Amino acid sequence: MDTWNIGNIRVTRILEMLDPLRTPAEWFPDSTDEAIRPHLHWLVPKSLSPVTGQIILPIQSYLVQTSRHTILVDGCVGNNKMCGYFPHWYDRNDNTFLEQLARAGVAPEQVDFVLCTHLHVDHCGWNTRLVNGRWVPTFPNARYIIARRELEAAEAGRNDPRDRTYEYNVLPIVEAGRVVVVDMDYAVDDEVSLEPTPGHTAGHVAIRIRSCGQEAVFSGDLMHWPLQCLYPDWNFRYDTDPDLARRTRWAFLEACAENGHIVITSHFPLPSLGTITRRQASFWFEDHPSLPSTKRGVS
Ligand SMILES: [Zn+2]
Repeated sequence: MDTWNIGNIRVTRILEMLDPLRTPAEWFPDSTDEAIRPHLHWLVPKSLSPVTGQIILPIQSYLVQTSRHTILVDGCVGNNKMCGYFPHWYDRNDNTFLEQLARAGVAPEQVDFVLCTHLHVDHCGWNTRLVNGRWVPTFPNARYIIARRELEAAEAGRNDPRDRTYEYNVLPIVEAGRVVVVDMDYAVDDEVSLEPTPGHTAGHVAIRIRSCGQEAVFSGDLMHWPLQCLYPDWNFRYDTDPDLARRTRWAFLEACAENGHIVITSHFPLPSLGTITRRQASFWFEDHPSLPSTKRGVS
């Protein structure tokens, strides 16, 4: 189990899946083989499957334990969701998510806050679980913090027959009275706060943590792959506002290169956290130096 300290805050990875899913061209319509080719030596095999040529995309949450609160950042796909995006996301019955939480010493009842960077299917699944045919909050005592704009966007998509994320993962926690609707710059306290990073979705937020002079930021889905640091104009296929997604990515990377804070990503290859440095006219993602180094080299 991977755990890191940001000052006195402990961050633990809760990994649900690690599978090759679609090719770079499918996820990033702006990408080209010519741009990717010089990076294959470090992309394969951690980030690109040598067998299928598909991107290996971790689906993961992070447990954040501060001196005051037990917080879950994002909620993976979850169980029993009739989610048709990929066969193995459909009607899952896998309790390793809750088992990892238990190994970290946390029972669902002990989670104080669930912070969703956004309400896509792979970030809010464990918001709920199916008990006796009813969706109930997985974390019964938690306040689920959701940006108003994100909640409104999710509500607007509730009748999409292909995507029942709102019905499964959001409406039950609203009806249970567990949701706290906030502005996109909401602060839980002086250690944990949200930061507006719209574009992937309308109400997408990054989540910043700070303790004892150290800072880190959970970047959610404002980027999905390390090559987007070198090519910040490459949008993800499902960025809902392409121009805004690009502007947000550039501004975020610029700020991270400036302040040197640790960036904790959702979908970058494990270990998924590192720092941003400047490279040519754009940026580069360096794996966290305290972790086993990957095969990534200078190019
Ligand atoms: Zn995602």
